[in-house]
Amino acid sequence: MSESLLAIENLSSGYSGVPVVRGINMRIDEGEVVALLGPNGAGKTTTLLTVSGLLKVLEGSVTVLGGPATFGAPHKAARRGLAHVPEDRSLFFGLTVQENLRLGLRGSRSKQAAGFERALDLLPALKPLMSRRSGLLSGGEQQMLAMARALVSEPKLLLVDEMSLGLAPIIVERLLPLVREIADETGAGVLIVEQHVHLALNVCDRAYVMSHGEIVLQGSAPELKQRPDLLEASYLGGEVST
Ligand code: ATP
Repeated sequence: MSESLLAIENLSSGYSGVPVVRGINMRIDEGEVVALLGPNGAGKTTTLLTVSGLLKVLEGSVTVLGGPATFGAPHKAARRGLAHVPEDRSLFFGLTVQENLRLGLRGSRSKQAAGFERALDLLPALKPLMSRRSGLLSGGEQQMLAMARALVSEPKLLLVDEMSLGLAPIIVERLLPLVREIADETGAGVLIVEQHVHLALNVCDRAYVMSHGEIVLQGSAPELKQRPDLLEASYLGGEVST
């Protein structure tokens, strides 16, 4: 069996040396869309930041694309093919769509051209907006741009933190299937943090549910769809007995 794109074993991480997530085990394989679900403050963003090397591994191990997550050196995992779309989207509002996209480019000129083309094939709605300043885009368009900027580097593993934040449900319904398309068409693994549980379960293969810093439930999307009681219990922070 080939190595997982992401392998997290018994991870504890947090802030200023104090763990807020504990005992996390997780893996993502090629072409998989995996959702990380759970209530506010459960530790989802903390987990993603640790994978990217922005928070320290306090215990356990995180192997990203064949190498360790290296605290303080997020470029190392990025060079191996990791891309992270953060919760705040981190766009440069004074720059145009095209200029924002250029910031995501990596590698040789031909690789850059291929990445650019691939990203716009997946998000054609951005094509007519190339010369518009990103601060003037709608929320949905900004999210598309944040995704496209990650995609131009042709990532092997893509982390997307709350794509739907601040977006109308109808926009979320239109945008979320994009992560499925990315995984199917590029073979990348995708980890999404998502509040819209039912929409997430429609596009992902598997999901992990976090509560109070721990994984309290995991399973395939079809399995979890059959167990709304368990999902609800996880969200309310109660005991989950299977
Ligand atoms: P949300 O869905 O609200 O984004 P989350 O599941 O992503 O929630 P995290 O942002 O990972 O949760 O937060 C997990 C815990 O870590 C929370 O208790 C939060 O208050 C705490 N936390 C987050 N950021 C910091 C920080 N910079 N310093 C200290 N504690 C933090």
